[in-house]
Amino acid sequence: MEGGGGYRTGLGGDRSDRAGIGENGRVRGFRSRLYRDDAVVLRVQKLGESDRIVTLLTRRHGKVRAAAKGVRRTTSRFGARLEPFGHIDIQLAEGRTLHSVSQVEGIELLGKHFLDDYPRYTAASAIAETADRLTPEEHEPSLRLFLLTLGALRALAAAEHASALVLDSYLLRAMGVAGWAPALRECAVCGTPGLHRAFAVPAGGCVCPDCRPPGAAHPAPATLELMAALNSGDWATADASPPAPRREASGLVAAHLQWHLERGLRSLPLVDRSEPHRPDSTRREPV
Ligand SMILES: [Zn+2]
Repeated sequence: MEGGGGYRTGLGGDRSDRAGIGENGRVRGFRSRLYRDDAVVLRVQKLGESDRIVTLLTRRHGKVRAAAKGVRRTTSRFGARLEPFGHIDIQLAEGRTLHSVSQVEGIELLGKHFLDDYPRYTAASAIAETADRLTPEEHEPSLRLFLLTLGALRALAAAEHASALVLDSYLLRAMGVAGWAPALRECAVCGTPGLHRAFAVPAGGCVCPDCRPPGAAHPAPATLELMAALNSGDWATADASPPAPRREASGLVAAHLQWHLERGLRSLPLVDRSEPHRPDSTRREPV
């Protein structure tokens, strides 16, 4: 019987005492271990009538999926803080299968900036989906990916750069965290430094004339310059780029990403890249 069994060890919730786990995955009879972290909300799914499952990218505990009870009731204190793209401070309770949310405070609820802005909303969705897909294992910390994801969502919210540029910069750098950044300033095959003109996704990026495989693309030099700028956070160069290299760079970044992911991203084809480019932007803050 739930809660009535008096199964107390008096050991303060020693994690080795897993014999007391109930059918619902909660530790029965003594407190389950609580932990606190800050996190970005990547995804929210319905669970039954009033609950949700949230997918979080936390600073210190990697990706965590957690049940949030009662958040869809109008009286919920949690609901608004557990919307996608928010930066939150959260307390979680360990469970056998799913952890559960016990407290949430909003640090910066970034999602509200994207609600009425389709280009920014779709870019944010592609960023969150990429972060989710690049973390197949839960509870494996990746501070770099956390900081990169939070930085990209904040940059989108600040609207200092075109959202497609923020997205492509994020995708390039997230691929770097995953270990498969495209080679941009050296040959992907032999490592000869320099700006090479051909780009081959299966080879791993730019390739020199000696290593160029059949079927390699020949993007405009301005496209490869833009990709290098986005990868290094050179926003002066990126903001000043005209539309054609932006389109071509987006295509190459997407092709490189899709090559390495088992399944394509659902959100990437939806990204709206139609916003006007702003060559006169004077803002230069790095992401
Ligand atoms: Zn080469």
